[in-house]
Amino acid sequence: AHLDRIAAVEPVVHAFLHVDSDGALAAARKADEDRAAGRAASPLAGVPLALKDVLATSDMPTTCGSKMLENWTPPYDATVTRRLREAGIVVLGKTNMDEFAMGSSTENSAYGPTRNPWNTDRIPGGSGGGSSASLAAFEAPLAIGTDTGGSIRQPGAVTGTVGVKPTYGGVSRYGLVAFSSSLDQPGPCARTVLDAALLHEAIAGHDPMDSTSIDQPVPQVVAAAREGASGDLKGVRVGVVREFSGDGYQPGVQRSFQAAVDQLAALGAEVVEVSCPHFDYALPAYYLIAPSEASSNLARFDAMRYGLRVGDDSTRSAEEVMSLTREAGFGPEVKRRIMLGTYALSSGYYDAYYGQAQKVRTLITRDFDAAFAQVDVLVSPTTPTTAFEIGARVDDPMAMYLADLCTIPANLAGNAAMSVPSGLSDEDGLPVGLQIMAPTLADDRLYRVGAAYE
Ligand code: GLN
Repeated sequence: AHLDRIAAVEPVVHAFLHVDSDGALAAARKADEDRAAGRAASPLAGVPLALKDVLATSDMPTTCGSKMLENWTPPYDATVTRRLREAGIVVLGKTNMDEFAMGSSTENSAYGPTRNPWNTDRIPGGSGGGSSASLAAFEAPLAIGTDTGGSIRQPGAVTGTVGVKPTYGGVSRYGLVAFSSSLDQPGPCARTVLDAALLHEAIAGHDPMDSTSIDQPVPQVVAAAREGASGDLKGVRVGVVREFSGDGYQPGVQRSFQAAVDQLAALGAEVVEVSCPHFDYALPAYYLIAPSEASSNLARFDAMRYGLRVGDDSTRSAEEVMSLTREAGFGPEVKRRIMLGTYALSSGYYDAYYGQAQKVRTLITRDFDAAFAQVDVLVSPTTPTTAFEIGARVDDPMAMYLADLCTIPANLAGNAAMSVPSGLSDEDGLPVGLQIMAPTLADDRLYRVGAAYE
């Protein structure tokens, strides 16, 4: 049924870069047989899923939305991919994304944009627009995204779906093509909080192949989602982040957020306002740290090791081939980030830019620590606006970067955060997301509050 749905809507939505019908049907048949024999691999055995094209798959291409990796199939599975298979989950295919996960609209994909199923003139968010759009278009009930600055939560918000960035180190990055290694985190996308919780537990847990993977028990997020579904939030302290309101937030988003806060209070939560003064500096710090790490990580695309190679004939030097390949293989946003990052890391500027941004990162972590000494979770709008029109921000990188204003602090500090649907804006009828943030390794709190709210 999902393959039929994909065939019907993909000509418009374009959520997928690759659909593996044969592989999916074979995996589904195997899950059916196992279930009939009383040995279902997990509660999600046989459930189809859409996988962001930045996670390595040994049986499908992994392009990261880039010409650099067109038709490139990795020799191994990412740990996330392996765990999905072990849980009996059926991988339908790979989803569209901004090139190397850099963007907020999926317009930076080298393979054309994904359209928002709610209004096909609008963006589905990014970088994981394909994963979230596939859920909103009912092409898949589950999806995997990766979140470096908001790429799970922001697409979730603008497509009316659930997206979770787990605690950094909670889900393995082994086999995730690196953008900004200290920020990147894979996580679950779904249409309900409980579905996201089931997927979260399927992919989370310690992995010796990832040196930053946390060697601790996985937070009990399924139990928390079930507990939250009772709708009782008595005793839960909710902090409203003062800095994430006012100018720049659409009135429809602000009204939806206020209604969400009122509802949390009606469910019994104790709501207080909390100030996180350094959150205002999260965006500039992120746009130094993420490009710096990207400029180092993307050096591996040297025309020798992976994918594209342009101009390789007997007359050219290796350096010329590298240069021609990068010129042809990387899109404009990726080139912009590499140049920004290389500049910020260069001797003479390192202390003023990268070093300063790392200090801001510490101050943001301290803001979270101080806030979580007073409250159990923090809330804010996930994004300042609903889905904008395709094309509206492509020539204005600063406007594009603002889409992640509210999501970036949790990446910089490494703690857990979720976007849960918060109804439709009374301004334009498009979905709005409520962001819930919890301390490191307290991912279960997101699911308790999210399930109570949804
Ligand atoms: N939109 C942000 C960026 O362009 C975040 C992307 C992400 O989380 N991968 O960097």
